[in-house]
Amino acid sequence: MNLALMAVSMVTKTEVENPIFVQQPIENIFEFAVTPGVANKFITPEQMRLLAEIIGEKGTLEYTPDHRFIVKLPTEEPKSVVEQLEHSGLIVMPIGDVLNIKACDFCYGEKAESIPYAEEIASELGGLKLPKELHIGFNGCGMACYRAVFDDIGIVYRKKKFDLFIGSKPVGRTAHAAQPVAEGIEPDELLPLLKRIIDEYKENAHPNERLFKYFKRVKKIQHFHYQDMSSKIEVEPAPCGD
Ligand code: SF4
Repeated sequence: MNLALMAVSMVTKTEVENPIFVQQPIENIFEFAVTPGVANKFITPEQMRLLAEIIGEKGTLEYTPDHRFIVKLPTEEPKSVVEQLEHSGLIVMPIGDVLNIKACDFCYGEKAESIPYAEEIASELGGLKLPKELHIGFNGCGMACYRAVFDDIGIVYRKKKFDLFIGSKPVGRTAHAAQPVAEGIEPDELLPLLKRIIDEYKENAHPNERLFKYFKRVKKIQHFHYQDMSSKIEVEPAPCGD
C-alpha cells in the first residue's frame, strides 16, 4: 500500500478569505501525517529544516498523541511535497479514519528483533480506510511501556512470539485496556490473523463505530469471544454517550 499516494488523494478544498471579492477563490489544503519511522522517534535537523521550509508561513505542524505530526498546508503540488519529505527519510501517511501503527522505540533500537514485523504490518495495513480510526500498538517486549494494550489492537512481542489484545476503549473517563485474546502467536501467523480481524471489522462495523464498540455489539471477532473489560466503578454518564 502506498501511504504517500493515499495521503495525496486526501487533499481538500477550502475557500480563501478575501473581503474584496464576493466569489471566494478556492485553495487546496493538503493534510497529512508525518513521522520519522515506525520504530525511530528522532527527527534530524535536516528534516526539521525541510519541514519548516515546506510548511512556511501559511501551514501548520501539530503534535498529536498518536506518535506523529499532522501537517496542513495550502499547496497545488502535494506530490512534490511528499517526494521531498520521503527523500529526506520521513514517512508520509493519510489521516482520518485510517489504520495507524504506533510502535515503541524498541529501547532505542536495542531490542530490535521484532522491528521487521512492525514495519511489515505498517507497510501492509498502514493507511487502510476503515469505519473509524484504528490504532495498532506494537511493543517490542513484555514491559509494553508504550502502552500497546491501550490501543484498539495491541501486539506485544514476547519469547519470539506475539500476544494479542483487542478492543481497548482508549479515551474518555471510562477508558479501559484491551482484552487479552491470544498468547504465543507464531510470527508467520500474526499478519494473516490481523488482516482477518481488520477485514471483518471493515466489512461489518457501522460508520463511526470504533473497534471496542463493534466487539461489544457482535460479541465475537474471528474466534475470539468478547469479555467485558469496562470499569466496574460507576461514573456520571456523559451527555455525549462517552
Ligand atoms: S516495550 Fe519493551 S522494547 Fe519497547 S521500548 Fe518498552 S521496554 Fe523497550
